[in-house]
Amino acid sequence: MQKDHFFTRRRMLLAGAAALGAAGTGGAVLAGVGEKTSGTAAAPAPVPGPQARPALKGSAFRLQPLTGDGPPHTPAHRLKVREEPILRISGRGRHMMLTFDDGPNPDYTPHILDTLAKYDVRAMFFVCGECVADYRELVARMADEGHVVGNHTWTHPLLTTLNRKEIHSEMARTSDIIEDTYGERPQWFRAPYGAWNRAAFQLGAEMGMEPMAWTVDTTDWMEPGTDTITDRVESGAAPGVVVLSHDAGGDRSQTVHAIHEWLPYLIDSGYHLTVPRRRL
Ligand SMILES: [Zn+2]
Repeated sequence: MQKDHFFTRRRMLLAGAAALGAAGTGGAVLAGVGEKTSGTAAAPAPVPGPQARPALKGSAFRLQPLTGDGPPHTPAHRLKVREEPILRISGRGRHMMLTFDDGPNPDYTPHILDTLAKYDVRAMFFVCGECVADYRELVARMADEGHVVGNHTWTHPLLTTLNRKEIHSEMARTSDIIEDTYGERPQWFRAPYGAWNRAAFQLGAEMGMEPMAWTVDTTDWMEPGTDTITDRVESGAAPGVVVLSHDAGGDRSQTVHAIHEWLPYLIDSGYHLTVPRRRL
């Protein structure tokens, strides 16, 4: 893939999701202020563009890297190792967050992206590396349309059955391919099946990712029917709620249909569908 093709996308992502908000306590993460929300044309965040370098004096030039702007992946600060994943978002107002796991999948993900675009809503997609490898263009589309992509491992294993080296491989490979397709390394990780362990928290923090779980499970993975999925979301709606849906991993036609029902309901109920922010 051409790197420069992704450069513009990366700039856009930085503009849209630059200020990674401080993670709150109690398993919540702060909902960003001024981020793009449904139904509003939010002002673009300042772009942390190329910075003018001050003139160097004396021997200072020796401290400057010869090319580029330094190591590309160094996190600005080390993340604290959590003992529990983040379950909800905090902040003022009626914010909720939508998450879609296990994709991308060519049969379902484009429909979900179309619906999100129709309502001008941004969401999080926790993708699996092996699916990204097959459908890179869908991750590129997520980037183009302002969604946040998180790491959901390469093959979706039960992490509690793997050793630390295996977990590291599952997570690191996925972060690498996300960077290559999305334009930015993921800042969020979600353990398959919600099965967290200490290694996953530690490795996630080392790789610059916060652990993100959910508040309301649509149970779409059980294929309970469109009405049940819709009811789960609508009855579970509340400020700070993180909704779990799936755009892959089985027949997700019910998920695709249900979102046409519950998304306008949430918007009409005054909810702002947001994506999290953290400080880069
Ligand atoms: Zn999953």
